[in-house]
Amino acid sequence: MVFETTIEGVRKSIGTLKKAGKKIGFVPTMGALHEGHLELIRLAREHSDAVVVSIFVNPEQFGPGEDFKTYPRTLEEDMEKCRNLNVDILFAPERSAMYSGERKFSIHIQELDKHMCGASRPGFFEGVVLVVNKLFNIIEPDSALFGQKDIQQYLILKRMAKEFNHRVELVMGPIVRANDGLALSSRNAYLSSKERRIAPGLYRSLRYIKKQIMDGVNEPHMLINHQKDELEAKGFKIDYLNIFSAKTLKPVNVLQVDEEYVIAGAVFLGETRLIDNIIIQY
Ligand code: AMP
Repeated sequence: MVFETTIEGVRKSIGTLKKAGKKIGFVPTMGALHEGHLELIRLAREHSDAVVVSIFVNPEQFGPGEDFKTYPRTLEEDMEKCRNLNVDILFAPERSAMYSGERKFSIHIQELDKHMCGASRPGFFEGVVLVVNKLFNIIEPDSALFGQKDIQQYLILKRMAKEFNHRVELVMGPIVRANDGLALSSRNAYLSSKERRIAPGLYRSLRYIKKQIMDGVNEPHMLINHQKDELEAKGFKIDYLNIFSAKTLKPVNVLQVDEEYVIAGAVFLGETRLIDNIIIQY
């Protein structure tokens, strides 16, 4: 595995792979790698001949008061995991390599970040789009893999790649969960043992909503409010819990046959924000 920290270096290493005719699969991450990331790396291998992983805790996607400083950084362990999966190139740039000097440009997102996570984290997706845009220009991958856990991120980036004419195919990997159903996340490390025991309740609520909908509920407002109450009684603080159109990411009140929806929630346990979702075809 080649380890690169500079843009020049990673471009050179990728150039060598491309000259050998290899298709590049790219998995961008913020590190603290867990089985969810590793599954994306395995998927990248299926979609390409060579795999590039990036680790960069992107300051531009953290708001004031969020956990940029305390976000888990475990580079040694991450390197070992990448080596074990035969990752070809691990790119872990310093902040100064990605953001040098004052920025004169920013990317503004229309509509797609007004609901779901975008509503409670202003500027978050603009930070994500900025860094992924830069990473796509640096790596020039043939495919890029993202997790369904961050479904709004995937849908926004897919649109960004199309509008900005990036020559990359975006692929969404399934949500990887712990045995009790909790979606794996680097932030799960923040949970106390009591919070960790409660945490799978979010996925249970999403599954319950899915079952009720599949059993015929098509105006889910009451059902959702009831699940919010249940979650609050268990100790969660609700950021949002709702059903969104998979196309527009807007919340929906009445479900239509043959449409695709995302049942999604974001909750706090103490300071820790957890997100999860289920995609359904109605
Ligand atoms: P992050 O390091 O949190 O920015 O995540 C990097 C990539 O891993 C993103 O595409 C995430 O959607 C994906 N990811 C994070 N957690 C999971 C999970 N539990 N299952 C599948 N993919 C995940």
